[in-house]
Amino acid sequence: AYDVLVVGGGPAGAAAAIYSARKGIRTGIVAERFGGQVSDTMAIENFISVKATDGPKLVAGLEQHVLDYDVDLMKTQKAVRLEKKEFVEVELENGAILKSKTVVLATGARWREMNVPGEQEYRGKGVAYCPHCDGPLFKGKKTAVIGGGNSGIEAAIDLAGIVEHVTVLEFGDTLRADDVLVKKAESLPNVSIIKNAMTTEVLGDGERVIGLKYTDRKTDESHLVDVAGIFVQIGLVPNSEFLKDTLELTNRGEIVVNGHGETSLPGVFAAGDVTTAPYKQIIISMGSGATAALGAFDYLIRQ
Ligand code: FAD
Repeated sequence: AYDVLVVGGGPAGAAAAIYSARKGIRTGIVAERFGGQVSDTMAIENFISVKATDGPKLVAGLEQHVLDYDVDLMKTQKAVRLEKKEFVEVELENGAILKSKTVVLATGARWREMNVPGEQEYRGKGVAYCPHCDGPLFKGKKTAVIGGGNSGIEAAIDLAGIVEHVTVLEFGDTLRADDVLVKKAESLPNVSIIKNAMTTEVLGDGERVIGLKYTDRKTDESHLVDVAGIFVQIGLVPNSEFLKDTLELTNRGEIVVNGHGETSLPGVFAAGDVTTAPYKQIIISMGSGATAALGAFDYLIRQ
């Protein structure tokens, strides 16, 4: 059995594996797709001490660093079940069962997509999901935010300070964001909000986004908005489906953790975007991966 088995190979999982292996204990890491969301990222400019890098480079660095230690790296393996018996058991899609004294869950999250024509084609070419990450790329340009919940309105307020103009498109007839955020957004001269708007298509010139199409759900009329950037803010979905009924999740599916990365199941820790920890960022998920590994080590020496 392992001492620490990390499930997930994004920045949180990589950090957890390195911190754990540095304690000289048996460490394994199993990941469906090593690198996680970072693999899909073009420019990274907020990974402190590295002025600019890109996803594939950072992923290669993560893997090299992990393999520098005595870590069992199991790539392209998906966990489908977790159960606590004498050990914590993690079942993989291929039927294998891995046993460990402790587990760090770092399975990350995925942005909910609009599923409209053009979205995939222009992903990273104007279609973006993270305002903290990609906002500055649209400096002085027109952008749209899809979604009028808290993250959408926060994104609009954030972007308003950088870009020329922000159009928020909300599907429903009211904004779901907190009142104070809505008031703030409405007070900004370069933010406009359109309700009852169903985005139907991302438009591009073959290279980059040039606009979007939406249908007014009240009148059924179709409209065009010309924008260079589209921030899709309709939800971040934690990859925690396989953990339902095994440990405490919030109603949005995030794993509930405390300051030591402990979940509701003793010996099982969690880190990164899959957890309740706020602000989903590379540097933050790495920090929480380190926390969870140290939490697991603490747990082991007390057994
Ligand atoms: P993830 O990166 O999501 O990794 C999860 C890992 O778990 C993956 O290896 C996945 O394959 C694996 N996994 C999932 N389910 C299972 C399972 N059942 N079994 C086994 N393995 C599983 N942040 C920044 O700080 N700066 C940026 O510039 C930036 N740009 C971004 C651009 C894009 C397009 C996106 C999508 C995100 C961006 N982010 C950025 C956010 C950042 O990528 C995430 O906050 C970070 O990757 C979270 O790390 P994580 O390890 O928690 O999860």
